[in-house]
Amino acid sequence: MSATHENAGFIQTVRGPIQPDQLGITLPHEHLYDQLWEIPGRNDYAGQLDDDEAVYEEVLAFRKAGGQSIVECTVRGIGRSPEKLARISERSGVNIVMGCGWYRQPYYPAEDLIDRRSADDLAREIIAEIEHGVGESGIRPGIIGEVGTDKSWVSAQEERVHRAAARAHLATGLAITTHSIGKPVGLTELDIFEDEGVDPHRVIIGHCDHPFCLSLEYHQELLKRGAYVQFDTVGNKPPEMEERAFHLLLKHLEAGYADQLLLSHDVCKIQHFRCFGGNGFTYLIETFLPKLRKAGVSDDLIHTMIVENPKGIFTIQR
Ligand SMILES: [Zn+2]
Repeated sequence: MSATHENAGFIQTVRGPIQPDQLGITLPHEHLYDQLWEIPGRNDYAGQLDDDEAVYEEVLAFRKAGGQSIVECTVRGIGRSPEKLARISERSGVNIVMGCGWYRQPYYPAEDLIDRRSADDLAREIIAEIEHGVGESGIRPGIIGEVGTDKSWVSAQEERVHRAAARAHLATGLAITTHSIGKPVGLTELDIFEDEGVDPHRVIIGHCDHPFCLSLEYHQELLKRGAYVQFDTVGNKPPEMEERAFHLLLKHLEAGYADQLLLSHDVCKIQHFRCFGGNGFTYLIETFLPKLRKAGVSDDLIHTMIVENPKGIFTIQR
């Protein structure tokens, strides 16, 4: 594996590399096309409609609210759709950054044989996508992930995928984003990444505002180690949990961690779309940020979280 870092200094979108300053207001963890219910044993039909017009309207609403970029964390086996993402980006004018790698063990496609291949072999597959695009599409991922765990621990196969993600990161300079539900799993994931030589500051630990992860101590440990702590279910939790997460976020801001915090909605089910009564991709800008301002958070700190931090983490490292 040789480090190419071909697009170092740029951000890779589904329509090609862009200058970091072009990213603007960014949602770092969302899904436009994903199918979670197609795995054995999952009967809740979680996923989206695969309706191009509906997706376009939702993304357009985000753009009209002032949004500029969306990071689409869907990976192989759960509905990733490179050509559809490129078309939505072209029609809406919103930059879309696409993910790669494998999600969590029950969602690994059987044909990918994760349990029979080495971490290096898996890494080679991720690197090939980053360097040449997905299949014949030529469309290249701009982030590794979301990779994660099914439970609050890392299974043997998941460890292999995490090591592959780390090696692909070292070879290409793309950052890593995780699915981490159930403390302390984000710390265990960081242990693996660090063991492989990854700087935690190139890692986003996802879903930190999920009810199973709302712990001041847990967040502080992640922050002290240098990782990004992502509040990415904004507006999609029961009200009591929204309040707890909001106050935890304020605590981190007061403690001076603004430059390690990221905000998103993790839109991933049909009921999250505005056309089905959900908050869509606009809740953060229209409802959450005004609430932060009302609580005394400065425009500077908000700009750090929604523009500067995404710009920093998604820029391909030299
Ligand atoms: Zn997600």
